Formats: sequence, structure tokens, C-alpha cells
Amino acid sequence: MKIHFLGAADGVTGSRHLVESAGSRILLDCGLFQGWKLHRERNWSMPDALRELDAVVLSHAHLDHSGWLPALVKHGYRGPIHASPATCALLKVLLLDSAHLQEEDARRANRYGYSRHVKALPLYTRADAQRALSLLVPQQPGRAVTVARHTLTLTPVGHLLGACALTLQTPGRPGTRLVFSGDVGRQHDLLMPPPEPISRADVMLVESTYGNRLHPAEDGVGRLADIVQRTVQRGGSVLMPSFAVGRAQALLLVLQRLKRSGAIPTELPIFLDSPMAIEATALYRQHAKLLRVPAREMRGLADGVRMVTTAQQSMRLAGAHYPAVIISASGMATGGRVLHHLKAMAPQARHSLVFAGFQVGGSRGARLLAGEREVKVHGELVPVRAEVHQLEGFSGHADQAELLDWLRHLRQPPAQTFVVHGEPDAADTLRAHIQTHLGWRVRVPAFSEVVEL
Ligand SMILES: [Zn+2]
Repeated sequence: MKIHFLGAADGVTGSRHLVESAGSRILLDCGLFQGWKLHRERNWSMPDALRELDAVVLSHAHLDHSGWLPALVKHGYRGPIHASPATCALLKVLLLDSAHLQEEDARRANRYGYSRHVKALPLYTRADAQRALSLLVPQQPGRAVTVARHTLTLTPVGHLLGACALTLQTPGRPGTRLVFSGDVGRQHDLLMPPPEPISRADVMLVESTYGNRLHPAEDGVGRLADIVQRTVQRGGSVLMPSFAVGRAQALLLVLQRLKRSGAIPTELPIFLDSPMAIEATALYRQHAKLLRVPAREMRGLADGVRMVTTAQQSMRLAGAHYPAVIISASGMATGGRVLHHLKAMAPQARHSLVFAGFQVGGSRGARLLAGEREVKVHGELVPVRAEVHQLEGFSGHADQAELLDWLRHLRQPPAQTFVVHGEPDAADTLRAHIQTHLGWRVRVPAFSEVVEL
């Protein structure tokens, strides 16, 4: 067996692991690189190793795990793309939106002359995304299926609607059971049930987003109530840049609970300003049986929430003068409608910006949280006088202790474990803990490294 680490090997984005085994070439995840420019530039080249694949299998729908699919298809891939049914449903929303953003970026670059000499082209188009979606093959979690001469099993791991760990086994060949964790969720998530255990692996690829951290015991919900109260009292609004899928629904759930308990004013308007978040909210309600939230509460998730569908409504909202909570995408303030709100709200001290998700190094969100008092938006410098907060309690990722607990379910140590999907310090810290506490053979692969087992 050979594994090519083609992404998420020196950072948390671009998850792509190619497994060559039993004469087949199977790609686990096909993620987009985000954050640092150095990483994003990798989106523009097609690694030779990704030619002539037999199958693609996705752990979940987040773009850092799925967002390069349309590019792969643009480069000629026409094989099957296996994923859980809920992942397939979310991908329809996520990939088309991603393609739209790619097209917008290219259009803006051409209009504002960021690149004067060459015409900017989108990384991929909506047509590429549609073609990728037509290749999806839904696979039920818990049911073993044959994929490119291997047995594939999906195991739900919390984290995001439809998210699963992937197990690949070469039939008739003991010692070839490879498990890829995907992103592992938390024991106590607002929406998702805890990750299901996996008991056998010969080769383990485990994520390490929070490999060097423990989630603080802080009550994120209480802190959010506090921030909203104080902001509203001084006549300001709260802007919550949020991932449209998963996080936006968790925030709605919490804000509805806070209203019901009287912790924030019941009449405070809540705007969901993201067409993708609106669609994802409908999908979360459709797949409510995969969640831990009572069905009745999910039905009321959007009650009284004002859905902002058109761009004009969104622009009007950016000029509004009454206190409100605005949930808008993207979650790291790297693009999307949240930028208009950021431009309008960041310069005014009465407002609050609240980030409730992981911010990739180099993203605008990470810069704001680092305390930068000026951010560039659409090529324009915007002063930051609003309060900037990060709520830790909303993470969808297992922390260091939860990752180790999930790994402890294995009855025997894998012959080899690889720590992937972490910033360098997070990956290396988790590596050291796996070595010390579990006594496993473990290492952090390098980007582009090929390992023969
Ligand atoms: Zn994820």
C-alpha cells in the first residue's frame, strides 16, 4: 500500500490522501486549500498523482475536504464520488456556492485590475461543480460496500451533518485496514451526536485541528448572551461571521434558547444573511434524525428569524441603524456578504464582531482576532473599532483529549499512525501525545510525501 499525502499535511486545508492498493487508486477527500496564499496557490496545479483515479471517497462536505472536486473534474475525472447521503445533500449547496465565489473572484480581479497583464480565470465554474455533483454516489453509514476492489465502510463521527470516518479494507488481505478519521466531532456538541467508536485499524490517519489544545470550560452560550446584551444596550449590533453549514444552525439554536430563557431580548431581530445558510438550515431540519436536538426544537429553529435572500436586502441591512444580530457567511470573513457588514460595522465602536469558529492562519478572521486594527476589504483599508470576540465553545472539532479518547477505542495499536490536518504545532503535539500516552508508532507526514507500507 502506498499513501500520497497531497494536502492537509502541513495545515488544516486541502485534505487529499491518495491510497494506492491492490491495483486501485482511491482518493480520500478532495479538499480546497484555504488561508495562506502559499497554500491557496496549490489549488492551481494538478498533481500527477491525481490522474487516473478509480474512485473518490469523501469524509464530509466541508470545503477543505470537498472543495477541490470541481477542479478535479475540470482536469478530467469522471469516476464515482462516494459519500454519505447527508454529505451529498450538503455538497449540492456547498460546491455550487464555492464555484460561484470562484467566478466572482475572477470577475472582481478583472474589473479592479488586480492582475493587469493576464485575464483572471476562475479556479472552476458552476458547470464544473454541476458535473462533479452528477458523479456523487450516496453510501449509507455502517454498511460495507465494494469500491475499487476494496471494502468501504463509513462511520459517523459527529462534527457536521453527514460527517464520517472512512475505513478501507483490501478483501482477503489481513493487515490492510486503513482508517481515515476525517474531522472528528465532540462528545458534547450542540447539534451532532458524539463520534462513533472504531475498534480496528492497521493504518490510521487522524486529524489534529485541535491537537495542541483543550476546549476551555468557558460557557460560550453565557458569554454570547453577555456580549449581545452589552452591545444592544449601547445601541450596537452583533455581527457573527459564520460558516453557513453547521455553525449557523448551532448559533440559531443557541439564540432561540437565549430568547426563550429571557437572557437576550425576545424582540431583538435576528437576520440570517446567507442564501447558503438558509438552504443548509432547511437541510438540517430535513435530516433532523441524524442530530441530537429534539425534533420539535429543530422544527422551530427558524421561527421569527428573518431570512435575507437577495443581495439588495443584504445591502439595505448593512445600512440599518437599529440593534440586531446578523449571522452571515463566510465564517472566516474571507468572502461573501459578511464583508459588506464588516465594512459597515467594524469602524464603529458600538458594534461587536463575534467569531464562533476556527480561523485558519492568514484569513481575515484570524487577523481580526490577532488584534489588527485595520483590515483590507475589497482592496480598501477598513479601521477596526468594534469589539472583536471569539467564542471557543462552538467548535465542531474534538480537542486533544477527545481525539485521544476516540483513538483509545482501537483494541490494538495500528502498525502505523499518521497525524494529518493540523497546523504544524497542533499536529506535532498530538503526535507526541499519541506516542507517550498510547505508545503507538506515529508520525506527521510532509506535504507531497509518498509513504510505502
Ligand atoms: Zn470539517
